[in-house]
Amino acid sequence: MKITAARVIVCCPGRNFVTLKIETDQGLTGLGDATLNGRELAVASYLNDHVIPCLIGRDAHQIEDIWQYLYKGAYWRRGPVTMSAIAAVDTALWDLKAKAAGLPLYQLLGGRSRSRVLVYGHANGRDIEHTVDEVLRHREMGFLAIRAQSGVPGLDKVYGVGHGGFYEPADGSLPSEHDWSSEKYLRHTPALFAAVREAVGPEVHLLHDAHHRLTPIEAARLGKALEPFHLFWLEDATPAENPQAFALIRQHTTTPLAVGEVFNSLWDCKALIEQQWIDYIRTTVVHAGGISHLRRIADLAALYQVRTGCHGATDLSPVCMGAALHFDTWVPNFGIQEYMPHTEATLEVFPHDYRFEQGFMHCGETPGHGVDIDEALAARYPYQRAYLPVNRLQHDGTLWSW
Ligand SMILES: [Mg+2]
Repeated sequence: MKITAARVIVCCPGRNFVTLKIETDQGLTGLGDATLNGRELAVASYLNDHVIPCLIGRDAHQIEDIWQYLYKGAYWRRGPVTMSAIAAVDTALWDLKAKAAGLPLYQLLGGRSRSRVLVYGHANGRDIEHTVDEVLRHREMGFLAIRAQSGVPGLDKVYGVGHGGFYEPADGSLPSEHDWSSEKYLRHTPALFAAVREAVGPEVHLLHDAHHRLTPIEAARLGKALEPFHLFWLEDATPAENPQAFALIRQHTTTPLAVGEVFNSLWDCKALIEQQWIDYIRTTVVHAGGISHLRRIADLAALYQVRTGCHGATDLSPVCMGAALHFDTWVPNFGIQEYMPHTEATLEVFPHDYRFEQGFMHCGETPGHGVDIDEALAARYPYQRAYLPVNRLQHDGTLWSW
């Protein structure tokens, strides 16, 4: 099955998505997601200018060799742009191989390890009362696991908290500026979870994302303060460029820790997993080199009882969600999958066969990963430059992690 053509489709049905479509001499096509939120066109150029010329004429069945060719052949290894581009090729090739076999993708990975995929939804509120209402609303929708984020008194804008239920942080043609106070956040958050746990009872899994804003000792203090409320996980407690920061948090708290949505290779995960400093690894199909590389990360994690918890916000396209659900259906050390529904316009551009039902997602049985693109419709939503915000400390304007 020879690759005859490949093209990059950039569209903005509510937010930007970059999609790679590979065509073959058998008439089959494969799709991969290449979306890197806020830096979309860098990956589009990497694919168009540097990767696609190398793909033409290759055997689409040689997924591993093509992966190694793009990774080692670039000489400059890793990084989010390179690994998102490789991920798009890898996902499209797995899609093609599964279509050629006439099988849903999870069958090629080794078949089903579970009947359905546990997902968590996002409950975001202006204040504690509003967040409690949102958690209860998500439980009514069937969610068994819910991430709770709340506005903080004295802060204008807070990560995860939008307007009218809709949240899309990449909102400006230049980065918008938010202010931040770890002290105000740390005073507020234990009270939030006391109220949420009280309202929702012991059964619902609760999650929280600190979004890389705390120092290790602040994160340790938060983890300790949240212990009575039995979180499923505390996410991105501190930046993980220095993995050892998690050793300090671990020393002080039994609150389970998750990190990795910004990671792009096994090498970002290795120490965290081998030292058992985390409980869940959040790398995704699109940002971590595709299914081939994510599988290697999951296999290493399994040796240390670290489970998967793939990033699944709307900054990944339905193509990535489809591929991730096949991966989740197979991966033996599955933990949970993030699920944030896309806009109606996005779901129309990307016809798909996965579905949400009573707190779980189900991948479809269509050959491949089950997600397509309506290119004529996509063309009606041209690219719009958008940036993620930046954060500054409230008291003196120092640039902080957003
Ligand atoms: Mg996160």
